Formats: sequence, C-alpha cells, structure tokens
Amino acid sequence: MVDFSTGVGTGRDGGLVVSRLRSRIEHVLDMSRDAFVETDAQGNLTEWNRQSEVLFGWSRDEVLGRCITEFLIPPRHRRAVWHELESVGSSLHTMKRTRPRQLDLLHREGYEVQVLGSAYIVGSGADLRIGGFLYDQGEDKAAEEALAHAYLHDSLTGLPNRTLFTYRLAYALAKGNNEPGSIAVLVLDLDRFKAINDGLGHEVGDEVLVAVAARLEAADGAAEVIARLGGDEFLVLFDTDHAEEDAVAYAQRVLHALSTPIAAGDNEVFITASIGVACTSARVNEATPLLSNADAAMYQAKRRGGGTIEVFGEVMRMRVLDRMNTEHSLHRALERRELRLFYQPVVEINGARAVGVEALLRWEHPEQGLVAPSKFIPVAEESGLIIPIGAWVLHEACRQLCMWRADRLGGPRGAVEVNLSARQIDHPEIISTVERILDDTGLPPANLTLEITESALMNDAASALRVLQALKDLGVTLAIDDFGTGYSSLSHLQRFPLDILKIDKSFVDELGIDQGGTEIVAAVVKLAHALGLQVIAEGVETERQLDALLRLDCDFAQGYLFSRPVPAHELIEKFTLPLGA
Ligand code: C2E
Ligand code: MG
Ligand code: MG
Repeated sequence: MVDFSTGVGTGRDGGLVVSRLRSRIEHVLDMSRDAFVETDAQGNLTEWNRQSEVLFGWSRDEVLGRCITEFLIPPRHRRAVWHELESVGSSLHTMKRTRPRQLDLLHREGYEVQVLGSAYIVGSGADLRIGGFLYDQGEDKAAEEALAHAYLHDSLTGLPNRTLFTYRLAYALAKGNNEPGSIAVLVLDLDRFKAINDGLGHEVGDEVLVAVAARLEAADGAAEVIARLGGDEFLVLFDTDHAEEDAVAYAQRVLHALSTPIAAGDNEVFITASIGVACTSARVNEATPLLSNADAAMYQAKRRGGGTIEVFGEVMRMRVLDRMNTEHSLHRALERRELRLFYQPVVEINGARAVGVEALLRWEHPEQGLVAPSKFIPVAEESGLIIPIGAWVLHEACRQLCMWRADRLGGPRGAVEVNLSARQIDHPEIISTVERILDDTGLPPANLTLEITESALMNDAASALRVLQALKDLGVTLAIDDFGTGYSSLSHLQRFPLDILKIDKSFVDELGIDQGGTEIVAAVVKLAHALGLQVIAEGVETERQLDALLRLDCDFAQGYLFSRPVPAHELIEKFTLPLGA
C-alpha cells in the first residue's frame, strides 16, 4: 500500500520509486476534467487536483492538510459530514464505493457549486482515505449544449446550418398538414459574391455574409428557420397557412434590406441577391423536389440578371422539363454530329475589306431544325457540356481557317474569332486544350482570336488574369465581347492583356439616332484606342450606323449590313465580292 500524501512506500529503494510514481499520478490527476478530492479519516485533505482549484477557487497549497468541513462543506451540512466521518473511521472495510450523488460544496467566494460525484473509501486506520471525482453538472450541460449548437449551426453567422434546416423541413413535412401551399422554401444566393471575395479579400467576404445574415434575421416575418447552407447561399423555411405569400413578402423585404450598402472593412459593399421560392403542391410534398424547385427558381432569377425573385410554378416547371430535354439531347448532339459552325465576316470600316470571320455555333436539331446558340449554350454551360462542345468549336474553326488559307480560290484569310464561355476560362485544361488544337490543326496562333465576355472576366478576376496571360503567351489574340453589357469599366480592362474590344450591338443600335448614344460610342472608341485596343462594332445593320462609326474612328465592323452568319461553303463569295456594297 502506498500513501500518496507522504510518498512513503515499502520496497528496497521505495522512497525514490514512490516519489516518481506519485508525481506521475499527480500529473494524471491534474489532467482530469473532473475535480479530484481525497481526505483521511478525519476529513483532512490529502489530494486536491488542478480542476479542484478551478472549480472551488482554492489552490492546493492553501488547503492541503485542512479539514474539508472548514472550507468545502457548507455550514448546514457540516454536522452530517462529521457523522459520516465518524462512522467511516470506526467501521472495518477495505474498499467501498458509494453511489453517485449530488453534493453542494462551497466555492472560495462563498457561493455554492453543485457537483455530482461518488466517493470511495479505502484502507483503514491512519491509512484510510476517502476520495472521489466530482464534476460540475452545469459545465457539463453547457459543453453538451455547445457541441449540439456547433453541430447544428453555422460557425460564421450563427444561423442554423443545412443539417438543422433539413430536420426542420422534414418535421414540417411530416407534421401532416400537407395542404398544398402550406410549406414554402426560399433559396437565396448572393450575386457576384465571388468577385467580392476575390477582389476585397475573404475577411471582407465574411463580414458581408455576417451582415447579410443579420439582415435576413431582421427581415423576419413568418420565417420558421433561416439557415446558411455554406458559401453565399441561404435557405428559409415557411410553415404557415399562406406560406408562398409569406415567403414572397419576406423575399421582397430582404431585397429591400440588401439595397443599403454594407460596411465591411474600409469598404462599402453593394450586394444583390437572387431568390427562388417553391412551395408544396399536390404533386410536390417531399423535401428533395421542393428544394430542387426552389433552386431552379433561384437559377431563373440569376439568369434574369440577379437582384430579383422567382417563384416556382407551372410555367417554370415546363421550362425545367424543357431544359432537361435540351440537356438530354445536347448530350448526343456531339456524337451525332449535329453541331455546325456558321461564319460572319469582320470587315475594315473604311475599305469594307474582310479581315476575318467570327465562328458562331448552330445546332441542327433533328426535329427542331437550326437552333440558335442562345437556346442551348446556357444549358451547355450549366451542365458542363460546354467543355467538350467548346473544344469541338475551337478545333473545327481552326481546321476550317487552315483549309481556306490553303485554298487558292480565295476565301477568308485573317483571323478566326472563337467565343469562349466563362466555364471554359475556369476550366483547368483550357491552356493545354488551345495549345493542342493549334498544334493539331497547324493554325498559326496569331490567326486565332478568342472572344471573352466581360462577365467571364469579372467573375473571378484574379484567375481570369492568369488564364488570359497564359493564352497571350501562346501567341493568340484576345478580344472582349459584348462590351458595355456587363459591369466592367475600361479601367478594369486595363489589367487584362486584351487586343480587341467589341462594342455591343445595343450601343450600335443607338448610333445616328440618339445624340447621347453616339457620344457613348465615341468615348468608348477613344478610351479603347488610348489603351491600345482595336475596336470592332457588332451588329451593324445600316449605312447610317456605318457612317457614324467611320466618323468615330472605329476600326472594324460586323453585322447584317455586310453578311449574316453563313455556313463555310457560302462564305467564299462574300470574300471575293466587294463587301458592304
Ligand atoms: P456574340 O459573340 O456577340 O455574337 C454576335 C451575335 O450577334 C450572333 O448571334 C450574330 O448572329 C448576331 N449578329 C451579328 N450581326 C448582327 C446584326 O447585324 N443584327 C443582329 N440582330 N444580330 C447580329 P448568334 O449567332 O445567335 O450568337 C449569339 C451569342 O451566342 C454570341 O454572341 C455568343 O455569345 C454565343 N455564341 C455563339 N457561338 C458560340 C460558341 O461557339 N461558343 C460560345 N461559348 N458562345 C457562342
Ligand atoms: Mg462573339
Ligand atoms: Mg458580341
């Protein structure tokens, strides 16, 4: 038997062994989350670990050797404890353990601490020890609650997380009141949040998310749960008699609340959101389709330019089905060779001499005939099909231009302009794909122009800049397409290694009709030239527009005035005849 309090043991070099053992045990006791208290038969303290210090406020040195009735036992219990000590001392047991029970003990500051503990009694006479681990129930409960909270809440905003939202939605659906329209789900996604994160830094991004969460809570009407899914996506559940109306009213309040800029860091951040709402119906009364309908509505709001609300309904259901069909048949369009390229000449503004062609994609659908890109490119982008389709376009356009260049009968020389979508720019293999296609077809890189829209650049400016620089290093020419329709300014563009700026048709339309419109085009041309960019005017349809562009010193033009986009074999004539005549 070893007496830990004195460090005396039996054995040949007992003293040393025991004191080492003792310090190890003390160390272990100190690591315990529970308080450990031990006394002798008189109630004099023999052990007091670190957690006891924390829980009761007394240091070990202050209390070791003192009787616990002096400082640890509240006066009203002292008599009972003396009785117990007496009966323990006089009985003969080698080891006894009591049931766990609740004890009120005194803190150094005078208040009582409720702990739970079971005591053991071991040894007899002078070696008798009464000890036990005690733990603070309050603290335990708090830790449990903290754990549960962390499991069910988002750590950044403190809002419920996806798990909690899913529970609550399942509960609402299971409650039985599945009247059509009684449960609505709202999905909110911030517009262009990535640009904020990348442009201003993640800390500012986090601050914006916290501020948005606060506004979502402040706009609270009948919302049952407001949750953050992660990223910049939020979900709100409505479980009322008029869930859809409540959700839409809430969405309107949220859009209004977001219209005030958010102060984050040193910045004033302007943010909008796309909101989709879906509610239960006779057909839809389960969580998965309800959520995916709300998602579809949110994407529809995004497609409409963001900052708006869409409600999933019959029209949208048809649209979703339609998209699914399109995606399905688009999958096979590549294999079945249903894709075609049409070409539209780009001409010199003064000489009306063609300097190149833009390749424009068409889908020769077996039932629907020729389908315009606006009908299927968004679907291809969403589904990721734009990657193989885009690679096909590039290859086909480069191959075609090489054929024309080799053809002695004439036809387009110059450059072929190929449109790239944002998804392609983001794709990790974009550079190697372009390089491989140039290699395969043998087209000199200088004869390939890649067109990128403003929005593709602004999505993730930092990574777009890297990609553009790498493309530029390959020797290809870079153009910004549809200029004026996005959010960028010319000073933004200055950072990118661009060669050509294409003014969007909507500006060209105003030329010669509206004085203000003419001035805008004039300013864009001037600034573009100052930045060393050449300018192509898109969608030129009239002589009047052409005249205006000539006066404004624009470099090139493209439009129905010269030629509609046509299949490759029809283009030869356009290049042999004087254009624009
Ligand atoms: P974009 O690159 O700005 O192409 C110009 C669009 O304007 C073409 O429409 C063209 O047919 C049309 N256009 C040209 N001149 C005139 C005119 O004088 N008047 C009018 N009203 N329209 C004119 P299209 O071919 O329907 O293509 C629409 C958009 O689809 C393109 O806009 C481009 O953003 C995208 N697109 C086309 N082909 C591809 C492709 O291969 N890949 C990708 N990612 N996008 C493509
Ligand atoms: Mg284009
Ligand atoms: Mg364009």
